[in-house]
Amino acid sequence: MNNIQHINVLVIGAGPAGSVLSYLLHRSGTDCLLVDRATFPREKICGGGLTPKAWRLLDQLMPGIKYDYVPVRNMRIQLEDGPMCQFQSQLEIRMTNRKDFDYALLQHYLHAGGRFQKEAFRQYEQLPDGRILVTMESGLQLTCNYLVGADGAVSRVRHQMLGKAKDQMLFMEQYVEKSGPDEVFVHFSRKYAPGCFYKFSSIGRDIYGFRGPETNRQTFSQVLRDFNIPETRFVGALIPLNTVHSTIDNIILIGDAGGFPNKVTGEGLYDAFKTAYNAQCAILQHKPFDQTNRQVFRKMKREEKLFKFLFSPMGFRLLDFAMRHPRFTKWILDAKMKRETFTLSRLF
Ligand SMILES: Cc1cc2nc3c(=O)[nH]c(=O)nc-3n(C[C@H](O)[C@H](O)[C@H](O)COP(=O)(O)OP(=O)(O)OC[C@H]3O[C@@H](n4cnc5c(N)ncnc54)[C@H](O)[C@@H]3O)c2cc1C
Repeated sequence: MNNIQHINVLVIGAGPAGSVLSYLLHRSGTDCLLVDRATFPREKICGGGLTPKAWRLLDQLMPGIKYDYVPVRNMRIQLEDGPMCQFQSQLEIRMTNRKDFDYALLQHYLHAGGRFQKEAFRQYEQLPDGRILVTMESGLQLTCNYLVGADGAVSRVRHQMLGKAKDQMLFMEQYVEKSGPDEVFVHFSRKYAPGCFYKFSSIGRDIYGFRGPETNRQTFSQVLRDFNIPETRFVGALIPLNTVHSTIDNIILIGDAGGFPNKVTGEGLYDAFKTAYNAQCAILQHKPFDQTNRQVFRKMKREEKLFKFLFSPMGFRLLDFAMRHPRFTKWILDAKMKRETFTLSRLF
């Protein structure tokens, strides 16, 4: 055990959650090592949309961060074949390419002097003195005071602690050449409730995506045919819906590994950043993550209820009303964005 390297904090996974946390820890002078099994820049199946609350939070957590994006403010929402609810949001959604965006976050950490190593996590073991012994697929062993699982939707850290993940939703996407104005289009239908069909204009391409009660090639193909969109190549990935609590004090699960994507929209980048920030607070202040992340755990519970409501008959009636009143819908959306900005200022 004496020859084994010891690190204060070992972070598994250099996605947005892991890179942001490692950057924050490094900036605070904490001994930290970030590892990922992938060679960067690496692909990640994702719409890449950063809502205003997400990019504003990132600006504060990683000051000076630079990344490419398409700013989108044109919103179109429709329920079945009812009226199109169309408006311009006050603040832009930033559409990024995840491969380049994640690389930019990692580079920001590396330029600040952070340490990164290409390693695939295999397993951990709790030592009698409270430290964690981690073994990588390469056979490399390390000990640490804190182990952070930021290893995404199919997290191996979470799997070892809590077993097979429950409740995951499959999203399918296809990427096509850009056409028409930059926009976000979301279509709701009772046919694919709980779920939706969407189009995001991104960098050099349009993304069509789908999530329904049964997401598979056939159901996605049918929706594309309904919208007269030529079929190309499909990709799919899971979004975890089940938020989990770590059962070990010095092992923390953040981002998708902890099941923190928004239960209603599937948006995960904002809570990846926020749980990274809350993990940093837990480590630096020697507080349980359950305490520093309490607000996010509560928000997840509220989102579970909202998800059930939205796709209920009453929820559809409300959606129908909203679609017929674009000014009201724009007001709600803009106000929500402003309120979230206010919440953000209280964070610091
Ligand atoms: C189709 C789809 C569309 C989406 N669209 C949006 C959107 O528009 N906006 C939005 O906000 N969110 C979106 N999301 C959600 C978003 O992609 C995730 O919430 C986000 O990527 C979570 O970041 P993360 O850092 O937790 O995990 P990830 O980005 O998944 O990063 C995890 C990292 O861990 C590494 N890793 C995994 N296992 C190991 C291991 N054993 N050892 C070492 N490293 C490992 C991986 O290589 C990876 O780099 C979408 C998701 C899907 C599936």
